Amino acid sequence: MNKKSNYLKYFSILLTIVMISNSGFGQTYGGNSAETNRKFAWPEGKKMALSLTFDDARLSQIDKGIPLLDKYGVKATFYIQPGNVLQRTEGWKKAVKDGHEIGNHSVFHPCSGNFAWSRNKALEDYTLQKMKAELDSANRFIKEVLGTSTSSFAYPCGQTYVGRGINTKSYVPLIASMFKSGRGWLNEAPNDPYYCDPAQLNATELDGKTFEQILKLIETAKANGQWLVLAGHEMNDSGNQTSLLQTIDAICKYATDPANGVWIDNVRNVAEYIERKLLDESIARNRKGEIIVKARPGSKVSVEQLRHEFWFGCAISNSLADGKMPESDLKQYKEKFILNFNSAVTENALKWYSMEPRKDEVNYSVVDGILKWTEENNIPLRGHNLFWGISKFVQPWIKELSDDELRKRMQERATAITQKYKGRFAEYDLNNEMIHGNYYEERLGPEITKMMAQWAMEGDPNAKLFVNDYEILTGKRLTDYMTHIRSLLKQGIPIAGIGVQGHSHGETFDRQQLKNALDSLAIFKLPVRVTEFNMPGQNSKFYGNRKVVMTPEDEDLKAKELSDYFRICFAHPAVEGILMWGFWEGNNWIPASSMYRRDWSITPAGEAYRNLVFKEWWTNESGTAGKDGLYVIPAFYGKYKVTVGKVSKVIDLIKSEGKAVVEFRK
Ligand SMILES: [Zn+2]
Repeated sequence: MNKKSNYLKYFSILLTIVMISNSGFGQTYGGNSAETNRKFAWPEGKKMALSLTFDDARLSQIDKGIPLLDKYGVKATFYIQPGNVLQRTEGWKKAVKDGHEIGNHSVFHPCSGNFAWSRNKALEDYTLQKMKAELDSANRFIKEVLGTSTSSFAYPCGQTYVGRGINTKSYVPLIASMFKSGRGWLNEAPNDPYYCDPAQLNATELDGKTFEQILKLIETAKANGQWLVLAGHEMNDSGNQTSLLQTIDAICKYATDPANGVWIDNVRNVAEYIERKLLDESIARNRKGEIIVKARPGSKVSVEQLRHEFWFGCAISNSLADGKMPESDLKQYKEKFILNFNSAVTENALKWYSMEPRKDEVNYSVVDGILKWTEENNIPLRGHNLFWGISKFVQPWIKELSDDELRKRMQERATAITQKYKGRFAEYDLNNEMIHGNYYEERLGPEITKMMAQWAMEGDPNAKLFVNDYEILTGKRLTDYMTHIRSLLKQGIPIAGIGVQGHSHGETFDRQQLKNALDSLAIFKLPVRVTEFNMPGQNSKFYGNRKVVMTPEDEDLKAKELSDYFRICFAHPAVEGILMWGFWEGNNWIPASSMYRRDWSITPAGEAYRNLVFKEWWTNESGTAGKDGLYVIPAFYGKYKVTVGKVSKVIDLIKSEGKAVVEFRK
C-alpha cells in the first residue's frame, strides 16, 4: 500500500470510531453534549438550585440541625439509617411533617470491606439480589415507622458496585429502577441539569467546611446554572464528620435571601422539577414548528388550532355499527369521540373471529359501518388485526383445517381484507401479540409471518403493517420484543411501525421503565404507537372486578398517572400516537379506566386529558404583523385556521416540514 491509501485506511478507521461513539444517544430528554452551553431555567428566574443533604440519621441532626433549618424554613433531605431513627422516632416524624425529605440509605450501610467496620457487610460480598432485598426493607421501614414513602437514595460511602473482579456489578441500574435519584459522595462538581444522570447525582462534602469555602462552590454553580448538592453527617459546632452549624446558618441566610438567586430545596423537589422541565422542553422541541404569516404590516392575525397531527385516539367498539347500543348512548358515544379524538382503532370488528366466527360466513357490515363513520369524520383508522395467534382466540373451525387448507384460508383473508379496504385503513396490526402466542407459526413454521405480510401487500401494496404487543412499556418483555422485531426485519418483513399496548401496569406505572422502553424501541427508527392505553391497567385491582368503586383519591391518582404517561410519550420523538382502549364506562373492558362515567359525566382523568390535549398542547394565538408584514409563532403540529382581516385559510403545520408559510399579501 502507498502512503495515500494508508492514510485513507487509518482515516476511515478513525471515522468509524467517531461514528460509533456518536450513535445511539439521540433519544434522551434534555441531555446531549451539544447542549452544554444552554442554561437551565430554574423557577422564578433563580440562577441555581441548592440541596442540603445529611446522612445516617445522626442524633445531632434531630437535636441541633433541624431546628436551625426550620428557623429559615429550609427543607433538606435526610438519608436515614433505621437503627438511628429509632432513637429519635418522634423527632423524625415531626421532621417529615415539617416538609423535610426522608431518603433511603440502606439498612446496614454496606461499604467496601476495606473499611474494617464494613468487613462483615462488605460490598465485595454483596449480590444485586441481596442489595434489592435490603433496599426494599429500608423502604418498608420508612413507610411503616415514618409514614412516608421515598423516591431518593444515597449510596453508602458513595460506592456503587457489588462483587469483585470480573464479577463486579454496578448497582446504579437497580437504583434507577427503584428511585428517582441516587446521590453520590465526595464528588467534585455540581450537577448539570441538562446532562446529569439522576441515578448518579454528584454531592460535595459539607462536613468541616467554612461558609467561605461553600460560597465558592455556590458561585461556580450559579455561573453555570447548575444544581449543587451538599452532603454532610453530624450537624454540630465541632467534631469529626460534622457540618458546622455556623456554616449551615450562613448558607441558609444566604440562600433564602431572594437577592442571591438561589433555589434551596430538598432533592426530591429539585429532581422532580428538572424531570418535568426537561419533558416540557422535549415536547416543545419535538412537537412544535413555526407558522409564518405574511400579511400587510400592522394587520391583525389570528391562529386557531383545529386538530393535532399527533394521534390522540381511541378504540371504537363494535356497538358503533352493530345496532346494539341504545340510540341516546350511541349519540353521546359519537359526539364525545369526535370531541376528544383524532384517530381510532377497531377494538374487535376486524378480528378474524369477529368477522368469520363460522366457516364461510364472513360479516363485513360492522367494519364497513365503522370505516364509513370514521371517513365521514376524517378520523384515520388502524386495522386491528389481520391475524391473532393466541390459541384461545383462534376459531375452532380454523384449528380443524389441514395445513394446506389453513395456509390457503390465511392467504384469502389477508388479501381479501387489504384489497376490499385498499387505501382506507391507515395501518394494520399484522399478527397481534406474536411474542405471547403464535398459533400460525406453530402450525405452519417460522416463514408464515413473512407470507402474511406478502399476502397483505398483494391486496394493497401500500398497506402499512405493524407489530403489536404487551408488557413492553413495563419492561417485562422489552428485550424479547426487540429480538423479535430484529428477526422480522432480518427476514425482510416490511414492518412499518411498532405498536405497544400500554395497559399492563397497575394503578400507577413505572416512569423509568416507560422512558427506557421508548428509548430502546427508538433505535429501529420506526414510528411507535401506544395502541391500547388504559389507566388504571390490567394489573390493577380494577381489572376484572367491576364492583370495585373508585374513591376520590383513586380518581385523582388516575388523573395524575394518565397525565404523566401522556407527557412522557408526547415528549418522546419516536412516539407518533397514543390510542386509549375504551373511553366510556358503559363500553370499556376496564370500566374504571374511562374518561366518562356510565351517565356520560366526565371523570377527573377525562378533564386532565382534555387540559393537556386541548389547552396545554394547543395553540390559539392572535397578534399583529410587524413592519415587515410578518407574524411568526411557534405552534403544535396540526391543522390551523389562520385569519387576517376577513380572510381565513386552513393550513397544515406538519412535523416533516417544520414550518408552514401562509401568504395573505396577494
Ligand atoms: Zn452514610
